[in-house]
Amino acid sequence: MGKKKGGGEKKGKRPPSKSKHKKIQIWNKYEVSGKEVKRKGESCPRCGIGTFLANHKNRKTCGKCGYSESMVKKEE
Ligand SMILES: [Zn+2]
Repeated sequence: MGKKKGGGEKKGKRPPSKSKHKKIQIWNKYEVSGKEVKRKGESCPRCGIGTFLANHKNRKTCGKCGYSESMVKKEE
C-alpha cells in the first residue's frame, strides 16, 4: 500500500489585470456651440483627422504614431 504524497498543487489566482491604457475622452475634444462643432486641439498630420495631439508643456505628441511637434518658437 503506497501512500501518495503531495501533488495537490493549487493553481494561483490570476491577478486582476490593470490596464494602463487611458481612455481618450473624445467628447472633451469637441466643443459644441449651437449647430457648429468646434474641434479643440490639433489633429495628427500622420493619422489625420480624428486623432488628436496631446498637449505637453512645449510640444505636442500623437499617442497613436508617436509623432511629436515642437511648440517652441524659433527666435532669431
Ligand atoms: Zn499620429
